Amino acid sequence: MKESKVIVALDFDNRNSLDSFCEQVAPSDCKLKVGKELFTVFGPSLVKDLTQKGFDVFLDLKFHDIPNTVSRAVKAACDIGVWMTNVHSLGGSKMMEEANKARLACGSKTNLIAVTMLTSHKSSELIEIGINESISCQVEKLAAMTFRSGLDGVVCSARECAGLREKFGKDFKLVTPGIRLSDDPRNDQSRVATPEVAIKSGSNYLVIGRPITQSEDPASKLREINGLI
Ligand code: C5P
Repeated sequence: MKESKVIVALDFDNRNSLDSFCEQVAPSDCKLKVGKELFTVFGPSLVKDLTQKGFDVFLDLKFHDIPNTVSRAVKAACDIGVWMTNVHSLGGSKMMEEANKARLACGSKTNLIAVTMLTSHKSSELIEIGINESISCQVEKLAAMTFRSGLDGVVCSARECAGLREKFGKDFKLVTPGIRLSDDPRNDQSRVATPEVAIKSGSNYLVIGRPITQSEDPASKLREINGLI
């Protein structure tokens, strides 16, 4: 069966909507992303529940700390049995190498990727955080560091995919949030693309939150998106 390339960001604001969505979709329809809010409220037991139902879970906690702390956190995520987890590449190569070693040492198959620049960032905001590069140069630098550190791929916007695919080859996973159908509100996202454009640009997985979670019928919106790609 064809694997869905959609990772639904489970950013529902209540547990009933979350449970109802998970009951209406099958593991072949999408993967599920558990982020900071949900994990803080429901913890590892939610992740284990979803995994037991057969879903591939992306634990999106964007670890960014000293190498020892991050490597231990990554090991803990691997031990829960998630399909994918991530660190923030701004933590540097030493942090990413240690995280990768911790994953390999426990024999885990969990995909480990790194966030480059948040898709909500605009060029004008980079100056504010002390970065004088363009977004695309900065994303490429961080992706190169991630690649050298042995991780499986990066989180980036669809706009950066074509360049990264060419530089880092077909096996480097490109995971893209900031996905919007043409009539969806952008919300706080800046570097957005439609599902079709993201896939054509070389994205492996589309992370989609509010266009699905805030629609009237989340399961049917997911079906609509699956039908486009
Ligand atoms: O609702 P929306 O589709 O904008 O959700 C995007 C999801 O992807 C959110 O859960 C957000 O935390 C996550 N994300 C992102 N940009 C990144 C990394 C993760 O928007 N660079």
